[in-house]
Amino acid sequence: MLRVYSDFNCPFCFVQHSRILQLGLENDIEWRFIEHAPNLSSNVRDLQALQRLNEEFSLVLQRAPGISISKPEFCVNTRLAILSFISIQISHPHFAYAYLSKLYEAYWQQGKDISDTIVLRGILSHFDINDLVFHDHAEELQNRWQQQWRSSGFNERIPAISSSENRLLLGLQHVDNIHKFCSNSPKVNLNLGAACSLQEKSHLAILNGTQTISEKIINPSFFELHFFTGLNDLIKNMANNRPDLIILDFELDKSKNFQTIELLKKIPSSALKDVPVIYYFNQSCEHPDLAVPYTLGAIDSFSWNDDFSFIHAKLKRRAIDSRKLLQLSQHSSIDSLTGAYNRREFNLLFDKLWRISCRKKLPLSIVMVDIDYFKQYNDHYGHLSGDDCLIKVASLLKNNAQRTSDIVSRFGGEEFVIVLFDIEASIAEEVVQSMEAALETANISHINRELPHRVTASFGIFSLFPHPDISPNQALDLADQAMYRAKQQGRNLIYGERSDPLNYRNAD
Ligand code: GH3
Ligand code: MG
Ligand code: MG
Repeated sequence: MLRVYSDFNCPFCFVQHSRILQLGLENDIEWRFIEHAPNLSSNVRDLQALQRLNEEFSLVLQRAPGISISKPEFCVNTRLAILSFISIQISHPHFAYAYLSKLYEAYWQQGKDISDTIVLRGILSHFDINDLVFHDHAEELQNRWQQQWRSSGFNERIPAISSSENRLLLGLQHVDNIHKFCSNSPKVNLNLGAACSLQEKSHLAILNGTQTISEKIINPSFFELHFFTGLNDLIKNMANNRPDLIILDFELDKSKNFQTIELLKKIPSSALKDVPVIYYFNQSCEHPDLAVPYTLGAIDSFSWNDDFSFIHAKLKRRAIDSRKLLQLSQHSSIDSLTGAYNRREFNLLFDKLWRISCRKKLPLSIVMVDIDYFKQYNDHYGHLSGDDCLIKVASLLKNNAQRTSDIVSRFGGEEFVIVLFDIEASIAEEVVQSMEAALETANISHINRELPHRVTASFGIFSLFPHPDISPNQALDLADQAMYRAKQQGRNLIYGERSDPLNYRNAD
């Protein structure tokens, strides 16, 4: 499957879309729209954005002289156009490509403002669709595309085409090259084509409350600066919004510096845990020991009297590397669709909990969850809605298993496995009941099945005191068998099995 990342605001993307159309490949591609520089495109008459648009437009004319394209008067905010495209993809998948093509034409050939809902409605009327309705999950999906584009090793460039075998074509390429890439030819020339030069700002968290890092030191048109008075302030405000770098003002009291970095590393399962730390030597530390930051665990440092462009280049490089590192660590542990742990990480975490349980004789419950009639859900609502449903189910499972030791993992397609550690069987069963209740409350419509007409799941629980005579895999099998019992007994229910009820002092 080929996937294109594109931006309605980008002339290179418009030309690439025309080339794909020329090759007749438009329907073989999954189109993902992102905002290359949301800060700029939302600022409709921003002069800087306009200047870049002019430069890119001239470049596009040189690269694709035959193309019919006219320069828009200003950059538009493309968010509504993207959300409407996603909604059409879900509600009318057969029109989706034709709709996106009309959006591109309206903007790049007819000079229309596609941030205007009247314009969007006008385009939809070509398809006999009389209302502009945004799907409930459109926003969530757009955020996910944006995040995936950011973390997919494209160096924030568009257009980008990626294949399921992880091949990548970056920038606007010659039509022959696109053809070769899409037909999996080994002869494709992978040189970077012309690409949009806009760059998303990197986010820098500046810790210790000092504002001495002024605009003279870090240029705010390239970086988004977030100031925090201390570690707690940083954790409170950035825990779900990972900055690319943490900049720490050097303090003459070395132990305080050390403490801060140590504490940052210990924040449990937080987005901040692996963010690289860089030291800033401000004016007040006149003879800083340049080796200190590295011995404390920072990856780099800079000083108030360093050259402006040197600081800029250093921070930019470090910020890009930080995102790459995040991407690598996420790929190896997190399922990209649902954000739950992947199978590989599950095995590692489960193994660890298993060994602790054996040693300390603590009870543990394994829960297998399989969505009921999910194939019929996909058949009726389409694969994209199916993906959305998986995201919702994963999120409500995670919301109901919130202890730091709880593991929620995507086991395969529409199956999840949860491990609840150091917990009585009866309590584990209550946790699973709360998951089932959350699924009922979510009330995700599923009319292509017998009653109830909502998404349900079958849960199998196997609770035990792990001991060396049984392997973790055997225990998983037993949880799987419990789940199949739940299926056999009619689905939408919980089937619990305890290995040795006598061991459960509070068993009912
Ligand atoms: P049952 O109640 O017996 O579990 O029936 P089922 O239809 O849920 O089970 P079956 O195993 O027949 O079908 C599972 C479906 O899950 C088939 C597959 O297309 C779908 N699926 C697996 N992974 C994904 C995914 O990542 N996204 C989407 N949308 N669907 C997926
Ligand atoms: Mg299944
Ligand atoms: Mg199923």
